[in-house]
Formats: sequence, C-alpha cells, structure tokens
Amino acid sequence: MTNRRTFLAGGAALAAIPMLGELPASADTLPDYAPIPPSALGPAVNAQGYYVGRVQKNLYWVTDSTYQAAFLTTKDGVVLFDAPPSIGHNLQRAIDEIAAANGVPNKVTHIVYSHHHADHLGASSLFGKHVTRVGHAENKRLLARDNDPMRPVPDVTFESRRTLRVGGERIELAYHGTNHTPDNIYIHFPDHDTLMLVDVNLPGWVPFDFFNINEDVPGSMAAPGKALSYPWKHYIGGHMGRLGTRQDMVVHRQYIDDIVANVKLALANVDPTPYFAKYGNNAWAAVKEYQAAQVKYASDPVIKKYLGVLAAADVYTATTTFLILESVRLDMGVGSQIYP
Ligand SMILES: [Zn+2]
Repeated sequence: MTNRRTFLAGGAALAAIPMLGELPASADTLPDYAPIPPSALGPAVNAQGYYVGRVQKNLYWVTDSTYQAAFLTTKDGVVLFDAPPSIGHNLQRAIDEIAAANGVPNKVTHIVYSHHHADHLGASSLFGKHVTRVGHAENKRLLARDNDPMRPVPDVTFESRRTLRVGGERIELAYHGTNHTPDNIYIHFPDHDTLMLVDVNLPGWVPFDFFNINEDVPGSMAAPGKALSYPWKHYIGGHMGRLGTRQDMVVHRQYIDDIVANVKLALANVDPTPYFAKYGNNAWAAVKEYQAAQVKYASDPVIKKYLGVLAAADVYTATTTFLILESVRLDMGVGSQIYP
C-alpha cells in the first residue's frame, strides 16, 4: 500500500514541475462511496489503538482494524506471526495483556514471516536479535535484497514444508507456489482449526487496489482453492478488522470468478473500432480508452452484485478488474488473434 505523501516523494526529481504541487483537499468535493456493510467490521479497538482476542485456545490475534498479526503462547515463550509496523509497540502490549491474564511467559522467542512486505514485517526489529525468525527461502532472498534494518532476514528457512514445534505446540508451514508475492506461505495451526494466509482474502472486503497488487495473478486466483483444501474454521487474512470464515473464502473466490467471467465477455463484446477510429496514430490513447471501456463493461455488474456483500466494492473493483483483464489476456491468452 502507498499513500499520497510517499507517492509524491517518488516524484521528487520532477518537483520543479508546478503540476506536482499539493492539491487542496476538501471533504465537500471528495467523492461519495457506498456505506460499509456492518458484516465487514470487527471489534472496536481499545484506548491504545488495538484489539486482542482469542482465536482458539492459546492462539490469539491482534488488530488495529486495518492490519492483523497473530501469536501463540507456549510454556517456553511466544511465537509471533508477522509484525505490522502500524500495530508496532502494541504487539508486545497485546502479548503482555494475554500472558499476564494466563500466567504464561510473555517473551517472544520466534517470529514467523508470512511474506517479505514491509507493511507486515516492519516492526520485526523491535523484538531484538535473539529471536528466531522463520520464513520461506525466497523470503530470505527478497529481504536480503531489500536490506531493511527493520526486517532482519529469517534465521530458519524452508523450501516446501516445515513443522515448527515450540513449547509442545505445532505449526505447519507450507509453500504452494507464488501468489501475492513469490514468498507468501500458508501457516496452518492444525490444533487450533486456523489458517493464516496474508494478502489473499481480506475478510468482508474486496481486495485492495489492483487486486492486492498481487505479483502473480493466476497464482493468487488459485490460492483460495488451496486454502480451502486445508481443514480450518478460522482464517487470519492479515487485514481489516475481523477474522474470516470458510464462507468468506467462498465469497472471495466467487467474486474473482465473476470478474474473470465478465472480463471474457468484455474481450468478446466490446468493439475496438470507434477507439482506433478516433485516436488514429495515437495507439496508446486508443488502447487506454478501449481497455477502460472493457473494464467498465466487466466490472459494473460485479460492483452491483457485491454492494452490501463486500465492503468497498465500488472503490476497488474496477482496478482489480483491470489487473485480471491483463492476466486473462496475457497469461490465459484469451482474445489473442493471429494476423490472417
Ligand atoms: Zn503484501
């Protein structure tokens, strides 16, 4: 995720161009969006800005209502799953609260990394050097590349599967190919009926901008099916304010399937002729407006279907449809025509 400030910082080299000047924002002129369905919202955060709750037995989750982490208390210490910087020091506060209430150690001994992104790991360094960090082998390569002191590289890596045993508890880590990123793993808690899979399904909400900025679109479309092949009742998606259910995963998969089906219809039914007639030798103008028409054709019915079902369907469905349109064209080859 990005924000306007970092976006503008990225354009600093062009700062002399007056058009990059800060635009005055006014609440009166900003666009309106549909109300959020109450089913998308989770528990209220406390005065410190976090909520911590039990998932099952000694597995807990913590949220600031936009990001999520999880932790498992054991007789030998705490295993933390992700360390989002937006939750930051509230991670240890949440752990302290639960550990004190249950008379168990509050010291984090292990951090499992879901994937390398800074918005999920940027508070890792708060837990010091004497913590065992665990991630996929590709996670180590990517973090070494990123060279960010806030995200120390994992000490323990695996390629396909690894069973992590801490204090008599069992966590099954698995890699099932690329999806959101090349290193995103499935974290299964077989004794807690829970699966953690981050940045795939954001329970109650449509994906973030451009299909969660997923690097591998076909891999991300296959991930819900792989997730559902595990036994679990509770889902930790890494985002927004509540846990997920199997039904949330089914709805997410259906939403993506609906976009794919409509994109195929758009590729067959939207006539490119007027766009190329109007823009002549400006091929990019023609392609831009033609694809915008395809995206609108494909996404309008999906937005209508999911308003009131998934939060922010009217905010991000069009950009997600654009990314899926490109994948349907380029990965699946739909709509490719050989010159006669
Ligand atoms: Zn991510």
